[in-house]
Amino acid sequence: MYFVCNEGTGIGQFVAQLVVVRKVKGGDDMRNALLWLAALASLLVAACAPPAPGEDDEDHDHDEAVEEREEAAIEGTVEDAMRGYCSTSTIKPLSQQILDEMRCIDPDGFAEVPPLANVVYGAGVFPYLITPARDAFVAAAQSKPGTTLQVNSMFRTVAQQYMLRRWKELGRCGISAAATPGNSNHETGLAIDVQQHSTWRSALESRGFDWFGNGDKPHFDYEGSGAFSQKGLDVLAFQRLWNRNHPEDEISEDGDYGPQTRARIQKSPAMGFEVGAICSVDG
Ligand SMILES: [Zn+2]
Repeated sequence: MYFVCNEGTGIGQFVAQLVVVRKVKGGDDMRNALLWLAALASLLVAACAPPAPGEDDEDHDHDEAVEEREEAAIEGTVEDAMRGYCSTSTIKPLSQQILDEMRCIDPDGFAEVPPLANVVYGAGVFPYLITPARDAFVAAAQSKPGTTLQVNSMFRTVAQQYMLRRWKELGRCGISAAATPGNSNHETGLAIDVQQHSTWRSALESRGFDWFGNGDKPHFDYEGSGAFSQKGLDVLAFQRLWNRNHPEDEISEDGDYGPQTRARIQKSPAMGFEVGAICSVDG
C-alpha cells in the first residue's frame, strides 16, 4: 500500500463527512465512531505531515526522494502523475522523449554512463551526464571497485523537475526543496545524488565533483575540467516536442521555462507524445 496525500482532501472535511454519514444512519454509538475517526485522522495527519522546513534555494536542487519507488508509467497527464504518485518514473516515457530530443539537438551534449559492476541506480534514474562529468564519474567509481555506489538521481528532465517542484510547493512526497524547473543542475547533466556520500566524497571531489554539504548531503555538482552548462536545453527539447504534436497551439522555442511551457507540461501525456524525437535539421 502506497499512501498518497492528495491536496484538497482535507482531513477535517473528510472526518466531517463521515460524521454526517453516521448521523444520517442514526448510528447508536457515536462516541466509538468519533474515537475511531480521531485515531484515523491522527494516522492520516501523521502520514501527510509536511516535511520540516528546508532550504529553498532557487538555484539548488535537493536530492530526489531517496527511496523513490519504481511505478509504472500512467495513462494520464503529467499533472495526473504529479497528484497521484510520489515517483517521477510514472512519466518515464515522456522523459525519455525529452532526453532523446535533447540528444538530437546536441548529439555530443550528453553521454550515458556505461554499466559498472559496483554502481547501482535508484528507480527511474537516467544515467546521463555531460561527457567530462561522465568520464569523471566513471573514474571515481572504478577507483573503488569493491564498494557499492548507489545513485539516487542523475539526469532529470524539465517534466520531472516540474513534479519535484510541485511536491515541494505542496509539502508532499518528502521534497523539502527543489529548484524551479529549468534551473536544476540535474537537468543540465552536472549533478548526481549519491546515497553513500561520505564513502565516495573524496573519490568524487578529487575528480571534480563538488560536494554540496550538509544542506543536501547526497548532492554533488561537477565543476571539474570541461564543465559547461546545458541550461535550458531540456526546456527547448520539450517545447519542440510540444509544437511538433500541437501545431494548433505553438509556443515559443526559447528554452525558457515560463507560464506557457508550464501549462503545456501539465497537460502532456505521461506516456509520451504521439510523435517523439526527430533528429533532423528541420525537425
Ligand atoms: Zn541533487
